[in-house]
Amino acid sequence: MFEKKTLNDFDFSNKRVLVRVDFNVPLDGGRVTDDTRIRAALPTLEYLLDQGASLVLCSHLGRPKGVDPQFSLRPVAEYLDTLISAPVSFAEDCIGPVAEAAAASLQPGQVLVLENTRFHGGEKKNDSEIARQLASLADVFVNDAFGTAHRAHASNVGVADYLPAIAGFLLEKEIKYLGQAIADPKRPFVAILGGAKVSDKIGVIRNLLTKADSILIGGGMANTFFKAEGYPMGDSLVEEGALEMARELLDQAGDKLRLPVDMVIADAFDAEAASKTLGVGPVPDGWRILDVGPDTIKGYGKVVANAGTVVWNGPMGVFEFPKFAQGTFALAKAVAQSNALTIIGGGDSVAAINQSGLSGQVTHVSTGGGASLQMLEGDELPGLAALNDK
Ligand code: AMP
Repeated sequence: MFEKKTLNDFDFSNKRVLVRVDFNVPLDGGRVTDDTRIRAALPTLEYLLDQGASLVLCSHLGRPKGVDPQFSLRPVAEYLDTLISAPVSFAEDCIGPVAEAAAASLQPGQVLVLENTRFHGGEKKNDSEIARQLASLADVFVNDAFGTAHRAHASNVGVADYLPAIAGFLLEKEIKYLGQAIADPKRPFVAILGGAKVSDKIGVIRNLLTKADSILIGGGMANTFFKAEGYPMGDSLVEEGALEMARELLDQAGDKLRLPVDMVIADAFDAEAASKTLGVGPVPDGWRILDVGPDTIKGYGKVVANAGTVVWNGPMGVFEFPKFAQGTFALAKAVAQSNALTIIGGGDSVAAINQSGLSGQVTHVSTGGGASLQMLEGDELPGLAALNDK
């Protein structure tokens, strides 16, 4: 099923290994506020160190426009130093003389973290010169950055032109769980899709209509379907440009696509707004839908309880406001309690499952929202395609 070379297919002893990790973590004043992605890379890093390799780690962080100290990976390198068994040093550039000297002085068992790859504009353009220079720092390339696998950039795709290119444990695990769930799911296969915009997930809905047994819709994206059904939506988030598409999907999907049956509406987009719970219908002017209601959760909970496989991407409401987080947290609980194979597909649903303290009770929490969505759309991931076949 997994057709790419993996860590077990290569002898890493005394090799310098360029590892593309996904250290794109949230920082607050230079402090790592969520280390999930750093911890997720540790099995690959510790394995390579055990094999007698030295490691050159590269990653992007955020969306800097050129060099910007706010997006430096230095705090992440310092944080990694507290988690990993080996000493960690930092190079202030990912290519060029600074990086070359730091990489050349590495001994087996040592780790070097390179500065943000996106400080060079060519990274996102998959510039071959940046790729070549990154590759020149090592003998072999390992890609463990699932969160970036849907992008074709120099540090995850370009480098594979210059070095043996192998999948790390995290990339392998992510692809196996999600790939298996889509290709050969234990049925019933239930997909739960929420979040702000339906336009981001049209490709996913289309593909899953051919694969899943039920698709449960929630979050702001449901509003566009309600409007397509003819209900005025007040001040709710609605994508006018996606109404036609929503109508087509509803016609095509039949009972496979389920929409919320009740809604929590608010008189302002505000954590303290006044709220009411109503059956789905017209939303008064000045009001907007911010969460699904209890009957929706009861109904969705039953579907989830009887599922064989559940994949969840996107919150049921504006869960950043505690008052409007109940739908999302109640669904998180239902997913955690289900005996199904349960996969949380990245992004805000991961934040929701973590905040509810239930992430230990799901089968797999993905580190990549965009990459999992691309897999759910049925599209190839360039970061995976670039690696060497077994
Ligand atoms: P996405 O990035 O598409 O997964 O969307 C996540 C965002 O959708 C979160 O920040 C939620 O606050 C937002 N969201 C969920 N439900 C609603 C809603 N009913 N109205 C507005 N925003 C929503």
